[in-house]
Amino acid sequence: MNNIPTVMILFGGSGDLAHRKIYPALFNLYRRNVIHDNFAVIGTARRPWSHEYLREQVAQAVHESWEEVDEAQLTEFASHFYYQSHDVTNVEHYVTLKQLAQELDERYECGGNRIFYMAMAPSFFGTIAEHIADQHLTGTGFNRLVVEKPFGTDLASAEVLNQQIRNSFAEDQVFRIDHYLGKEMVQNILPLRFGNSLFKRIWNADAVKNVQVTLAERLGVEARGDYYNNSGALRDMVQNHIMQIITLLAMPEPKDLSDKAIHAAKEDLLASLVIPDEKAVSENIIRGQYLGTETTFEYVKEPNVAEDSKTETYVAGRLEFSKGPLAGVPVYFRTGKEMREKKTRVDVVFKDEAGLYGDKAKTNVLTIEIDPVNQVYFRLNGKIVAGGDLRLERFRYRYSEDEQAEVPDGYERLIHDVFVNDSTNFTKWEELKQYWRFVDAVEAAWQKQNAAGEKPVKYRPYGMGPDTSKILADPEDGWIYK
Ligand code: NAP
Repeated sequence: MNNIPTVMILFGGSGDLAHRKIYPALFNLYRRNVIHDNFAVIGTARRPWSHEYLREQVAQAVHESWEEVDEAQLTEFASHFYYQSHDVTNVEHYVTLKQLAQELDERYECGGNRIFYMAMAPSFFGTIAEHIADQHLTGTGFNRLVVEKPFGTDLASAEVLNQQIRNSFAEDQVFRIDHYLGKEMVQNILPLRFGNSLFKRIWNADAVKNVQVTLAERLGVEARGDYYNNSGALRDMVQNHIMQIITLLAMPEPKDLSDKAIHAAKEDLLASLVIPDEKAVSENIIRGQYLGTETTFEYVKEPNVAEDSKTETYVAGRLEFSKGPLAGVPVYFRTGKEMREKKTRVDVVFKDEAGLYGDKAKTNVLTIEIDPVNQVYFRLNGKIVAGGDLRLERFRYRYSEDEQAEVPDGYERLIHDVFVNDSTNFTKWEELKQYWRFVDAVEAAWQKQNAAGEKPVKYRPYGMGPDTSKILADPEDGWIYK
């Protein structure tokens, strides 16, 4: 689809996300003609920038992201950007913003189409949504709202925010970003599952022993201690990215590939997510906190973190669904800071069958590596050249360097999808609700554990985190990625 006329209003136009991700992504959409002559972007923030200064920032952001840039094209692109100094908490500022949006709408013939992008601290999302409604900022064409994460801090706050948003936007106009859903190998999960009759046939509780999802980070909290200490690994990583990956792995086959059908299948699955009680949390979920080294701080000594903080920098758990193709199959997940290496991967472990080759035949595993390399491999047994023994081999496909270079950044993909109104890779409210229910149940149980004097387990940094053997359903289970 080409040249979709739109005025985009970007809240947080001077922020890090706008600079590193949104401006470079918009430039590529411009190069690809998704937006071209009929678009304008209004960047807003409090600082007193001029249109010209914003354009310089946009050009700089594009140069920082892309090596080959046609300067004339970039100048033309940047000329579509306008800056409006705006405090989102000041109602009067929305009046000026509305006037500018209308003016640009006419100048660029945008047909009343608006995209609002909340690229700011989540504490402002509700206020912005309310003022978009009470100051009637929506246009006469399509209106879409892009919301960054986190969407709420628990189910109750997410419900309040959702209500504030609903005053101006229907659910199908809301695009809740989870940038993991823009990643190449996350988008490859459904094609792998449903495009291969082999996997379709064995993707069930009869054949799958367990599913393992790892999202490891090498870095610690760095300068974000303030934010992180109120969040923790469960809210920061499990509530969104890990849950979305698990949903793609466990959902039933959608009726077709439309966004509606895919979300319907996800909702179907999530209605059967088993919400743990206190006992299940203590048996199935482990929380950890990293220790220090000679050169790095222990978590509780990090700047802006209280010495008695019980915030988890690591969480591992086991969950299950009562319905769907993997009903009753243990799904293990773990995520942590200061782990051995940055890695996001999925391992689908198939059941072993006692056969002719006994123990010599090893477990079949399908691995989908999401970060840092895009690759898929399947572990299977074959014979060695001499003798009757078996060896374990990997059937693998990974992208060539050329293909890898073509993989768009997750943000570019997702912003493109907003322009073309494809909500497949965004989080719907019904999904989010279930994710929060799960997280809230775990948090509530942890509060009780804290009151009883229990604390997160300390772990040595740059390893694989605390001992997780107690959550494994079967003594023979173990993490494939060790
Ligand atoms: P940031 O760099 O701190 O930017 C915040 C922006 O909000 C600035 O433009 C700031 O400009 C503006 N602002 C603050 N208070 C304001 C007010 N009262 N009225 C109007 N504007 C105000 O934050 P960020 O890193 O870009 O993150 C933005 C959002 O994206 C967050 O929800 C974050 O969770 C999400 N996110 C960010 C990244 C990333 O890589 N940065 C990745 C994933 C998700 P002024 O100070 O001039 O007002």
